[in-house]
Amino acid sequence: MLRIGLTGGIGSGKSTVAALLAARGAVVVDADRIAREVVEPGTPGLASVAEAFGRGILTPEGALDRAALAGIVFADPEARARLDAVVHPLVRHRTAELVAAAAADAVVVNDVPLLVETGQASSYDVVLVVQADTETRVARLVQRGLTEQDARARIAAQATDEQRRAVADVVLDNSGSPGELAEQVERFWVEHVEPGRS
Ligand code: ADP
Repeated sequence: MLRIGLTGGIGSGKSTVAALLAARGAVVVDADRIAREVVEPGTPGLASVAEAFGRGILTPEGALDRAALAGIVFADPEARARLDAVVHPLVRHRTAELVAAAAADAVVVNDVPLLVETGQASSYDVVLVVQADTETRVARLVQRGLTEQDARARIAAQATDEQRRAVADVVLDNSGSPGELAEQVERFWVEHVEPGRS
């Protein structure tokens, strides 16, 4: 098994790279998706979050009210730490299950937006970082429906490109066209994935 840790700032093109790698046969494990799944309605995860923060973080239908929870943890590092203490072990456990279910010779891509922020670089055989310049990312995020202010605030809250480059084994530059990104993914696959699989 080859374990690839894929990361990059919001709007850099991680999901796009993950899809290109999946098209080549990689098994993609999406940390954001898992983080949503473990607090879906009816899960023990959501019950734990409600126990920690009160029923005010639930919608009338019993789903997680993300805006309410964000309002609590955004400005309160202690509350954020309590939330992480509930959710992170659940995410780790589910991730381990999904990786264990992959074939012994699989190429597993862990798409982890906060890989650098959470100090996980050493968990992977290869750390693949996607970068694009800030203005390009803001424009793409606005096109995806965020306000410009929200896009800039989210970018500012994450690690910097320098911090990500410091742990990267390979950096892909997604400041250009989708075709240029696809070419870089192709080169990555030929140079870093195929050699270990023959
Ligand atoms: P991330 O997962 O890192 O947040 P995405 O892969 O979702 O980033 O890309 C952000 C947005 O930019 C998406 O709407 C995506 O379709 C678009 N996008 C990604 N790469 C390019 C590119 N090279 N040119 C134009 N748009 C792109």
